[in-house]
Amino acid sequence: MQPNLLDTPIEYLKGVGPQRAAVLKKELQIFTYKDLINFYPYKYLDRTKYYRITELNQNLQSEIQIVGKIIHIKTVEQKRGRRLVATFTDGHLNMELVWFQGYKWIQESLQINVPYVIFGKINYFNGLFSMPHPEIETMDEHKKNLQTVLQPVYPSNEKLIKRHISNRTITKMMQQVFIETHHLFKEVFPDYLMNELRLLSKKEAFFNVHFPKSNDLLDRARFRLKFEELFFIQLQLLSKNVVRKQRIKGFAFKQVGTYFNTFYHDHLPFPLTNAQKRVIKEIRIDMAREAQMNRLLQGDVGSGKTIVGFMSMLLALDNGFQACLMAPTEILAQQHFIGIKEMADKINVNVSLLTGSTKTKERQQLHEDLLSGTIDILIGTHALLEDKVQFKNLGLAIIDEQHRFGVEQRSKMWKKNKLPPHVLVMTATPIPRTLAMSLYGDLDVSVIDELPPGRKPIQTLHFFESKRLQVWHFIRGEIAKGRQIYIVFPLIQESETLDYKNLMEGYEAVSRDFPLPEYRVSVVHGQMKPKDKDIEMKRFAKGQTNIMVATTVIEVGVNVPNASVMIIESAERFGLSQLHQLRGRVGRGAEQSYCILMTGNKLSSDTKVRMEAMCNTNDGFEISEIDLKLRGPGDLMGTQQSGVLNLQIADLIKDQEILKLARIKAIELLKKDLNFEKEEHQELKAAFVVLARKNNIWNYIS
Ligand code: ADP
Ligand code: MG
Repeated sequence: MQPNLLDTPIEYLKGVGPQRAAVLKKELQIFTYKDLINFYPYKYLDRTKYYRITELNQNLQSEIQIVGKIIHIKTVEQKRGRRLVATFTDGHLNMELVWFQGYKWIQESLQINVPYVIFGKINYFNGLFSMPHPEIETMDEHKKNLQTVLQPVYPSNEKLIKRHISNRTITKMMQQVFIETHHLFKEVFPDYLMNELRLLSKKEAFFNVHFPKSNDLLDRARFRLKFEELFFIQLQLLSKNVVRKQRIKGFAFKQVGTYFNTFYHDHLPFPLTNAQKRVIKEIRIDMAREAQMNRLLQGDVGSGKTIVGFMSMLLALDNGFQACLMAPTEILAQQHFIGIKEMADKINVNVSLLTGSTKTKERQQLHEDLLSGTIDILIGTHALLEDKVQFKNLGLAIIDEQHRFGVEQRSKMWKKNKLPPHVLVMTATPIPRTLAMSLYGDLDVSVIDELPPGRKPIQTLHFFESKRLQVWHFIRGEIAKGRQIYIVFPLIQESETLDYKNLMEGYEAVSRDFPLPEYRVSVVHGQMKPKDKDIEMKRFAKGQTNIMVATTVIEVGVNVPNASVMIIESAERFGLSQLHQLRGRVGRGAEQSYCILMTGNKLSSDTKVRMEAMCNTNDGFEISEIDLKLRGPGDLMGTQQSGVLNLQIADLIKDQEILKLARIKAIELLKKDLNFEKEEHQELKAAFVVLARKNNIWNYIS
C-alpha cells in the first residue's frame, strides 16, 4: 500500500510544528492528520449570538461572546509573577479580561478603543465578571471568519490553554488539514446503502461536522459518522462470530434422548415458562450444529436460569458427553449442587461437587470418576479450572454469574476436551440490550425475559436513618408472622478490617435490639472460614435463626424462600446493579416480600436517582439502563473489552437506534457478501481490513 497522506504525523501540518504536536499527542492523542479529522467538536456555538454584560450570570457555564472595547490595561503584581488585566466595556457595563501567562506579547497586541469580539468562559468574583484568557478578534476579523453560523467547540483542558492551543487554534488546524486532504476522503459505503439511508458522503460529513453549513447538515453529518462508527464495530463483532462458527469445530449434539425426555415428561418440578422453553430450544439448536456454542444466557434474578442450565446438560448426557457447572462462590456451588442433585437423582444422573474445601482423598476419587465417566455432571467453583481436573468427555461447560469470571477463565474451559466444549454463560446482571449487542456481538445471546408465575412483586421502600425505630418495629411484625430477615452491610473495599468492624458493630446493635431468647441472629462475613459460613447459612436456611446479618457474600444466588425482608444498610454505598442483585435474594416464596433501603439523611443527586429507581421498578433491564446512564458503559463493564467502547462520536446510550440500524445493515451485508468479494464492497473491505488488523480479529478475510 502506498503511504497515505492521512497518516502523516501531525507535526507536518502547516501551523503545528514539533512543540504543539507534542502537546496534541499527549493531551488529545492526536498523532496524525486522520486523528485530527476524527477529533470532533463536542458542541457548537451560535456565532451570531452576542451577550451583553447585563445578561451575564454566575450559572453561565459555556463559552460566550461579547462585543465591546478595551478601555484600560494594567499589570498587577501577585505572589508569583504578574497578571495582565484589561478593562472591557460593552458600552453599558464593564468587566475584566485577565491573562496569567504570556501576557507580554498579548499586552503588545491589544489595542485601546478598537471594537473587539471576545470569546471564552466567564468567572464571577467580588461582584465583578471576568474572562480569563479570552480569545480576541477585532470586529473586522470576526466578520471575515464568520463563515459558519455554528462554530465548533472542541474538547479542551487547562494544559492546552496554557500552551496557547485555543479553540481557535484547533479550528485553524482543522481548516488547514481540510485544505490539504479533502480530496482523499474516499467513500466506503456502497451506493445502495448511501441511497437507502440518505447518507451524506464521507467528505461532506467530515466537513459539516467541523464546519456545519446548517443545522440540518450538521445532524446528517453526525448521523453518518455515528452510523459508520457503529457499523464497523458491528461488522467486526459479527465477523468474529462467523469465524468462530466456521473455524471452531464443536461437538454436534444430534440427539434429544432419554435423559432429556424422561425428565421433561415425568419429572419437571413445575411447568416451564415460555421464555425458558424458547431459550432451551435456542440452546438445543445451537448445540446440534458442528460448531462450538458460545452463548450468553441473560435473565433477571429468579427468572429460572438453573433449570435451563440443567436441561442443557441433559442434552450433553444424551449425546454421550459429560457436563459441568462453575459458580463463583462456594455457597452458590453447594446450592446448585443440592438443587441439581435432587433433579438428577430422579433420572439416575451422577452429580458431584468440587470446591476449594473438597478433601484431598475425595478429590482423588473424584478425578478418577471424572476420567472413567462415572460422574456425569460436575458442579463446583473455579477449582474446576485446575489442570488436574480432567474429564472423560466434556461436552458442555456452564458458567454461572459470568461477571465474576474473566475471559481467560472462559477460555480455560475450552481446553478441557479435544474439541472445545460448548459454553453457556449465565448472568443475572442484566446488561442493557444495546450494550450486550456491542460488547457481546461475538457471543450469541439468549434472554429469559419472564418471571415464573405467581410471584408477588417485591415492595421496595427507602428509609432515612432517623426512621430506624419504625423499620425495627416492622421487622418485629414480620418475624412474628414467621418470616426471616436479611440485613446487609456494605463491603468497604479499601479496608478489610474496617469492613469487619462495621459489620460487627452492626451485628452487635442488631443483637441488642433483637435479644435472645425471643430472637436469634446469624452472622456471615468474608473473614469466616468457608465451613463456618456454611454452618451459619444452613442454620438460617433451616429457619433456626430469624435474622441474617451479612456483608455482600450473600449477594449471589443464595436461595432461602422463607426470607422475605431484605434490609440494605448504607444503601448509598451500593451501586444500582448490586442493590438489585441483593433485592433478588427475597421474593422467592409465596409471601409478600420487602426490600428496605436505609440511608443517611443527606443524599447526593445520584444516590437519590438510585433509590428512586429501586423503589419504582423491579425490572432488571430498566435498572441496568439507568445504571448505564449514571455510570457510563466503561464503568459498567470494568476494563474488560472496553476497547470496543472507545467511541469517537457515537454514544451507546443516546444512539441506541443508530446502533440497531448499524447492526441490521452489517448483518445484511455479511449475508449478501460474506467475504467482501463484490466490486461495490471493495472500499468497505479496505477499511475493514485495516480495522481488523488493528484489533487483531482472526485473519478472516484473506
Ligand atoms: P436464577 O435465574 O436467579 O438463577 P433460579 O434458577 O435459582 O433463578 O430460580 C429461582 C427459583 O424459581 C427457584 O426456586 C426455581 O425452582 C424457581 N423456578 C424456576 N423456574 C420456574 C418455573 N417455570 N415455575 C416456577 N418456579 C420456577
Ligand atoms: Mg442463579
